[in-house]
Amino acid sequence: MAQNILDTDIQFLPGVGPKRADLIKKELGVSTIGELLKLYPNRYIDRSTFFRISDVRAEMAYIQVKAKVIRTDLYGPSSVPVQELKFNAIKRMSVIVGDGTGELELVFFKGIKWMYEKLKPGSEFIFFGKPSSFNGHINIVHPEVDPPASASESTAGMTGVYPSTEKLKNAGVTGKVMNKIMEAAVNRGLQGFTETMPEYLMKECGLVPLHFALRNVHFPKDMASLEKARYRLKFEELFFLQLSLLKQKYVRSRSADGIQMPRVGEAFNKCYASLPFPLTGAQKRVITEIRNDMKSGSQMNRLLQGDVGSGKTMVAVLTALIAAGNGYQACIMAPTEVLARQHYRNIQKFLDGTGVQSAILTGSSKASERREVHGGLEDGSIGIIVGTHALIEDNVRFRNLGLVIIDEQHRFGVEQRAKLWSKSACGSPPHVLVMTATPIPRTLAMTLYGDLDVSVIDEMPPGRKPVQTIHATDGKRPALYKFMRDQIAAGRQVFIVYPLINETEKLDYQSLEAGAEEIIKHFPFPPYKTAVVHGKQTNEVKKFNMDAFASGRADILVATSVIEVGVDVPNASVMVIESAERFGLSQLHQLRGRVGRGSEKSYCVLMTGHRLSKESKHRIELMCATENGFELAEEDMKMRGPGDLEGTQQSGLPVSLNIASLAKDGLILNAARACAQAVLDNDPSLECARHSMLRQELKKDKYIIRDYSKIS
Ligand code: ADP
Ligand code: MG
Repeated sequence: MAQNILDTDIQFLPGVGPKRADLIKKELGVSTIGELLKLYPNRYIDRSTFFRISDVRAEMAYIQVKAKVIRTDLYGPSSVPVQELKFNAIKRMSVIVGDGTGELELVFFKGIKWMYEKLKPGSEFIFFGKPSSFNGHINIVHPEVDPPASASESTAGMTGVYPSTEKLKNAGVTGKVMNKIMEAAVNRGLQGFTETMPEYLMKECGLVPLHFALRNVHFPKDMASLEKARYRLKFEELFFLQLSLLKQKYVRSRSADGIQMPRVGEAFNKCYASLPFPLTGAQKRVITEIRNDMKSGSQMNRLLQGDVGSGKTMVAVLTALIAAGNGYQACIMAPTEVLARQHYRNIQKFLDGTGVQSAILTGSSKASERREVHGGLEDGSIGIIVGTHALIEDNVRFRNLGLVIIDEQHRFGVEQRAKLWSKSACGSPPHVLVMTATPIPRTLAMTLYGDLDVSVIDEMPPGRKPVQTIHATDGKRPALYKFMRDQIAAGRQVFIVYPLINETEKLDYQSLEAGAEEIIKHFPFPPYKTAVVHGKQTNEVKKFNMDAFASGRADILVATSVIEVGVDVPNASVMVIESAERFGLSQLHQLRGRVGRGSEKSYCVLMTGHRLSKESKHRIELMCATENGFELAEEDMKMRGPGDLEGTQQSGLPVSLNIASLAKDGLILNAARACAQAVLDNDPSLECARHSMLRQELKKDKYIIRDYSKIS
């Protein structure tokens, strides 16, 4: 059977076998030689260098020493003399080795008999492992032991360290064994790979051939070869991802499969004429971009990024009115009930006199309201519907849905969005505008939304004052309360936000409740009014309390981080964030954006414990230093990696990156995207012979990226 070597099960590699193969599959998710060869080292160790024992420190990473065994001590249960014990009753073996500069202890808890016989006093070995500190002296637990003259490919020079797990190590699949397995895989499997990059692109982009790259990523000949290998593999990974995203975008922009909305429409013009403020330049530019999309005849798929308070809602309203003016329905989806209601309220005033009817549908809409709204959507009398997930329910049908606007996009899963698309009875997919206030680092946006067009509102409405950010610990509470009293006396309002990391976390609720009590104690009624809002309240209670704050009846709002995202209370001038060290940068930035919306000077107070981890401290310092959301997002990504970033957990990366990092490889990403764009500019369908390998590669499953606009 002429099976490709890459599809061969790893159990057939020497040193593996069915048992280890099963374990490797389970632990590392790798079952074929091809997959194994794509498992790259996490890092490399320079095994050409020996350390002097006198230089070894507990803080060092993996090191190796060449040393002679001085003595071996065996330890069993303390009650029994060691001499009387069988080997399997020995608990621990301590081996003292020396290299003339000093002595080092090696400790073994397993495989003692075998090691005891091997490590004869006076004999020399190479010991390799991670030093640690125990009771004040340095030792290495379970070092790898090699004869001094061993110089096989897998132990000389730069050695790759592969991902591993406790179970693998316990089953004897140590780093050394893994290297041996890889050596066999490289020798047998490499030939199975065919080059994926056309010769001319390799030349233009300075890429080494695939075989060279794969060999050297596992067994680097030297530092320079390793660099070249890693560059090539990262480039390739990012290139194909961008190629598939850009190709999708290209196909969509070329297809006539979109609703043409040729008019601006009277509703838009009426609203525009009666705006209480002039639009900012950025808002105007973005609306022009959207307008061009909607009249093009192709489907719009646009991401609208803009910091909190930059005026995205205004853009959403005007966009919805374009749809209405062309006889189509528009739907605006918000992630929470509170936000949906707020949008609805805000939108009303702009719709006055436009003749467009709007409605709201949320989880708490009453059955009778619901029926009415369903009817209005089906017969087309409702032009703009605002709502939450309730809009996704099966019994919601539209007469002619032409536009979907999604606010705070990251709260909606892909499937949920897809379900909305399928609700349009008019055949063509609705235009899509995704709005996000979470500034996304550029590299991440290029990957997450590489197939979308991106608009950025990079200008704040005039009159916004910078928010002063202050870090304080518990001892400063009296001063904080005094400051709050002063602000309230001046007519301002105060947010106090508690972390609610996990909605069901009991402790978080307890601290919120205790905090609220404390506030009410220090700010008694009368004259102070404090509203408390959290997720365990019924929707009515929540709404009542939110309204009390939004309307200015309450001076203080104590809330969890989850529900008040997005609320607009221009009169609020102080945002106190409790346990600020528990929030990520993006989240802190979002919360801070709740203040500074009015004309008064605003403050954000980050309350933390006294002892902060290095990372938390860094985050708090950054928050105090800058208000630039994009800068903070870049830092956040550097600190936490793109996988943990706000906004990516649910949407996820379209494909998982194996070697490239969005946090560190921005330059390679730029080069790869430019290269992909150039290829498509010359050959949009990849029909040229020299691009056949690209076409081939894109057919692989992993590049069949879900299309936000078309899944049904
Ligand atoms: P976002 O949704 O981007 O967070 P909003 O649309 O809620 O921002 O706008 C924040 C505040 O700024 C609102 O009170 C809104 O009415 C106001 N606003 C929007 N655009 C302008 C503008 N061009 N000039 C002045 N104020 C504006
Ligand atoms: Mg908003």
